[in-house]
Amino acid sequence: MVSGMKLALGLGSLLFALGCQTGGGHSKTIENGTWLKAWESANPTWRGVHLMVQSDEQAKSLIETLPKLASAGVNVVIVEVDYSFEFHSHPEVRSVPFISRTQARELTAAAHAQGIRLIPQINCLGHQSWSKTTLPLLVQHPEFDETPGRFPQNKDIYCRSWCPQNPEVNRVVCALVDELIDGFDADAVHVGMDEVFLIGSEYCPRCRGGDPAKLFAKAVNDLHGHIVTQRNREMLMWGDRLLDADSLHYSEWEASKNGTYRAIELIPKDIVLCDWHYEKRDDYPSVPFLAAKGFRVWPSGWQPLGATRAFSDFAAKQKNSRVLGYLCTTWGKVKIREAADWPPLTEPLKEWR
Ligand SMILES: [Zn+2]
Repeated sequence: MVSGMKLALGLGSLLFALGCQTGGGHSKTIENGTWLKAWESANPTWRGVHLMVQSDEQAKSLIETLPKLASAGVNVVIVEVDYSFEFHSHPEVRSVPFISRTQARELTAAAHAQGIRLIPQINCLGHQSWSKTTLPLLVQHPEFDETPGRFPQNKDIYCRSWCPQNPEVNRVVCALVDELIDGFDADAVHVGMDEVFLIGSEYCPRCRGGDPAKLFAKAVNDLHGHIVTQRNREMLMWGDRLLDADSLHYSEWEASKNGTYRAIELIPKDIVLCDWHYEKRDDYPSVPFLAAKGFRVWPSGWQPLGATRAFSDFAAKQKNSRVLGYLCTTWGKVKIREAADWPPLTEPLKEWR
């Protein structure tokens, strides 16, 4: 999501039948469904903040900050957990440190007490490495890599991807998603899926020569089959791979120049698309475009404040019920404890209250 922006951090429906029916015993009812219904009726607009929360210490910082965030107008917090969770189904993919199950439950309970919806995130498909560091899934399961054995030390690539056609990857990933849903008692999951550049690679024996749009849609549909169809939760994802960079005049980061954008016609419309743009522009044509396609769109900005205001103002003028509100991403520019006082968060949210 970064277009160089996480630099500061250092660091299916058809297919679900193939690999995502992990439990079988999961309840289809959301345990906190009553809470969610009340939240939905009280919150016609979504005023969110996205935070990296990857240890118990950070979770505790967030718990302490939640009352201030609520006062600033925040009613949704996306916590990017990735592999930093006390996974039991596949403990080999835990990052260290990680968030314990106990702390995850406490975090959700504390958020709900403030009227805030808490949504865990795990980056799927892309973003499986950062700089020279490959994240645990592909370290422990190199057979899932879209470019197995290629690009030592991740030289000459942006981030690694898993292979959406590997017959085993969904079994593992859906087990991790289940643990996040159950651990956080989550009513929704954000699956990331931004900035996927390695897809349909010549180095993948399954995907070589494949249509990037169909491959991307397969990954989306597999996750949707599990999260929405099987687990009855909402699914959110970043929207950049679904936008045609050329026709919408965006960069290759915040939109697609690698053939994935036609997947927009191949995925379910109940997915919430977090449409991120960080540059100051006169207009952001992706917002009306995605809404017109039938999706709920959650415009997602960052900083500086001028760009934040331009995007939030544009989105607010749409007067479209599918434009949910505004999501403030932070990407290491503000500490969790200081987020509630950060102007790129506080200023645009005033517009959506
Ligand atoms: Zn592949």
